[in-house]
Amino acid sequence: MDICIDFDGTCVTHEFPAIGKDIGAVPVLRELTEAGHKLILFTMRSDRKVKKKKDGETITVEENFLTDAVNWFKENGIELYGIQKNPRQRFWTNSPKAYGHLYIDDANLGCPLIIPEEGRPYVDWNAVRESLKEKGIL
Ligand SMILES: [Mg+2]
Repeated sequence: MDICIDFDGTCVTHEFPAIGKDIGAVPVLRELTEAGHKLILFTMRSDRKVKKKKDGETITVEENFLTDAVNWFKENGIELYGIQKNPRQRFWTNSPKAYGHLYIDDANLGCPLIIPEEGRPYVDWNAVRESLKEKGIL
């Protein structure tokens, strides 16, 4: 399966633009790739250059928020098949939506979440693993 994965609140806690804390995604994502599934990072993060004022001068600052997320996957030894799109979909569609058979995203209806006392809810990866097993995906 091609599986689209959100980042903030899904792979880590919500701390954008910083990389959030570990929430147990790494072993499940590795299990998915080891089972032959292809992961596509599908996130609102992007890289951009922005002009900012500093000491009365306008400077250009690079914000590499998407690259930071891609590096999180590299650092955790999780192979990405695609970034923001499915590399094969260009052969059959011009759609800007990344094509996946499954989407794992803290904003998805029905996504199991942990609701902390402070801060935003994030994905409950133990429950996701169980759900993937129930569906025969893992
Ligand atoms: Mg999210």
